[in-house]
Amino acid sequence: MSAKNLSPTDYPLPDARGRFGPYGGRFVPETLMPALAELEAAYAAAKADPAFWDELDELFRAYVGRPTPVTYARRLSQHLGGAQIYLKREDLAHSGAHKINNALGQALLVKRMGKQRIVAETGAGQHGVATATAAALLGIQCVVYMGSVDMARQQPNVFRMKLLGTEVRSVDSGSKTLKDAINEAIRDWVTNVETTHYLLGSALGPHPYPMMVRDFQRVIGIEARAQMLAQAGRLPDAIVACVGGGSNAIGIFHPFLDDENVRLIGVEAGGLGIESGQHAARFADPAISRLGVLQGTKSFVMQDEHGQIALTHSISAGLDYASVGPEHAWLRDMGRTEYTYCTDNQALEGFRLLSELEGIIPALESAHAIGHVLDMAPTMPKDSILLVNLSGRGDKDLDTVMKALDEQA
Ligand SMILES: *Cc1c(COP(=O)(O)O)cnc(C)c1O
Repeated sequence: MSAKNLSPTDYPLPDARGRFGPYGGRFVPETLMPALAELEAAYAAAKADPAFWDELDELFRAYVGRPTPVTYARRLSQHLGGAQIYLKREDLAHSGAHKINNALGQALLVKRMGKQRIVAETGAGQHGVATATAAALLGIQCVVYMGSVDMARQQPNVFRMKLLGTEVRSVDSGSKTLKDAINEAIRDWVTNVETTHYLLGSALGPHPYPMMVRDFQRVIGIEARAQMLAQAGRLPDAIVACVGGGSNAIGIFHPFLDDENVRLIGVEAGGLGIESGQHAARFADPAISRLGVLQGTKSFVMQDEHGQIALTHSISAGLDYASVGPEHAWLRDMGRTEYTYCTDNQALEGFRLLSELEGIIPALESAHAIGHVLDMAPTMPKDSILLVNLSGRGDKDLDTVMKALDEQA
């Protein structure tokens, strides 16, 4: 993969104010504006510099293990009896998911900016681990804020971060979960902005984060496009990816935007079903999801009639979020991408089938994409092709799945 291929195309959005049509932008307190302006300028300079992409490209190759393979899922395809299914194997990226692509991209930018310190927040711990990994590799001091409730629930990831040399700070305010950790991380950033970068983990937040995270995750789609042409002789008929904040999905979708015959399908967390209200399907439920601002960006937000953020539910922590990346909302308005959802139970079925038929234990997030494919593939002709983004591996989810299967039995 050459730097030319890695560096972003001249695809027009976002505009200069970070807008994707009516979505995106920068809705933050005045105190954050200078830090965002500095980041925007630093990223613009890096983005235009081939040496920056060369360096990232080399880290992707020699450290992450890129390109990750595309695997033809022969037995799953036969079992479902329709489309031929291919898997883009982000589960094989170092540290077990696509999140490392973004963490390394931003950490490299931190070095360029001459800063010595990173802050981040984490809920389930996956973004914290990816950030701690990148910080260890590049020798950057790292502090991760985590709600005390989440720390108790995610002890192995807390220990991983500590092993990697990161300081994990417990947050005891509010609900002691992700949103409180975000507040603390941002407070730290504003206080120490001279030395510190805030490393955001998905295609979310104020400009330039949604664009920058997308650019770092585009490597997934760039590789997959070339691999499909080489291995299947043509592009897929559809690409399916799970959507939490939206970074793995935009990463694989973006290099295919101009390929009009390739359907791009995002799968949200259907939780206990849309009727139950216990889900995180931001695009599926107009009753509780509408335009709003959350964490600095305008997009679809799950909220009550007073604009209070709704409580979401998913069996998979990475998909359990009240808002969705602004570029997804815009691409959906344009009719270029489609969104559907997969319930907890259907995701568990996908998890089980992929493990049994392919010897691949997926992350519960990725199992949502597989869950949708269980419905979709049988309706398609045998000479059609589906490409699924397998965003991560399932080791982290074994406890959750064990408990859930026990309850079903
Ligand atoms: C965090 C995570 C996700 C969800 O985040 P996106 O930004 O929507 O990609 C999906 N899969 C895995 C394995 C994750 O760790």
